[in-house]
Amino acid sequence: MNEIKLLNIETWRSLTNAETRLPHALLFAGPTGVGKRELADALAARLLCERPRQPHEPACGECPSCLVTASGQHPDYRLLQPDSAVEGEDEGETASEGGSEKKKASKQIRIQQVREVEEFFHLGGHRGGARVCMIDPAEAMNQITANALLKILEEPSASFYFIMISHRWRRLLPTLLSRSRRVMFGRPPAVQAERWLAEQKLTDNAKWLPFFGHAPLEVAVAAKAGRLKALESVVADLLKPQEPLTQANRWESLVKADGALSMEELVTTVQKWLFDLGQCAVAAPPRYFPQQNHALNSIAHRLSLPVLMQAQQQVSQLRAWSNHPLNARLFLEDLCVRAFRPLGL
Ligand SMILES: [Zn+2]
Repeated sequence: MNEIKLLNIETWRSLTNAETRLPHALLFAGPTGVGKRELADALAARLLCERPRQPHEPACGECPSCLVTASGQHPDYRLLQPDSAVEGEDEGETASEGGSEKKKASKQIRIQQVREVEEFFHLGGHRGGARVCMIDPAEAMNQITANALLKILEEPSASFYFIMISHRWRRLLPTLLSRSRRVMFGRPPAVQAERWLAEQKLTDNAKWLPFFGHAPLEVAVAAKAGRLKALESVVADLLKPQEPLTQANRWESLVKADGALSMEELVTTVQKWLFDLGQCAVAAPPRYFPQQNHALNSIAHRLSLPVLMQAQQQVSQLRAWSNHPLNARLFLEDLCVRAFRPLGL
């Protein structure tokens, strides 16, 4: 039997045992980066696979259906997610803000996308097997689109499966919640997260788990995008901060480099660092950089707590602007001046 390596292997086993009849609509709920989509993809592939599957066995990966699944073009599969770029606004369902931008990235699933699923639902399958519609994330549906989807969910269908993913399931319509079976995903214990990272050949990056809120898939995404290197150098700078203007200069090149950190990530990193300094200042363990415990403690002993708290507050305020700073250089200078004031720089 094929082995499958998933972060949430126990959930996989419970959904794929012989006794479980999968419900028409599943809702995978939990924080980001804890493997909801990973499991949903494996489950969708298993449902679409044309070879008989033993309990717990993943998709065969070899049948004609699996081959089209791998190409992302399976005719009996639909993925509903916010379009990355949408022409104009759609039927007033997203807040219109002057409408001056022709093209803007949409964070919502459009009504037209749900209508296409409705058509897909009523048309019947291409390959005679199961059909799957994945919605990621479900909170990208507003009331209009969610209601349109509900109409489809209310119609029973033996071989049609909805798999919804939600990072903020409490925001979903109660009717959507009541018509789907919720499967909760939590932050995995360290051992499980480290095992998964090792399976992805990312063992060395396990030290970043606390930084990413113990969400191993977030660590993997950052590692694959090359962002951990940039984060590494920010941490080195925080350990030995330069005078603010020099530091701003260094960080400017970091946010402008390819595959670099976004300004928001940089500010968040500084915020987490200041938070951990505050922890050490009151003899509590650091939350985000436990491996820097010693260094953080030696810095924390030198600084004044009220000045640190003021810096924490000011950096939090700056974060609100980090997505659209008017002038990146001035923004970074401001950040460094405020963040390093507690250190007397
Ligand atoms: Zn197959």
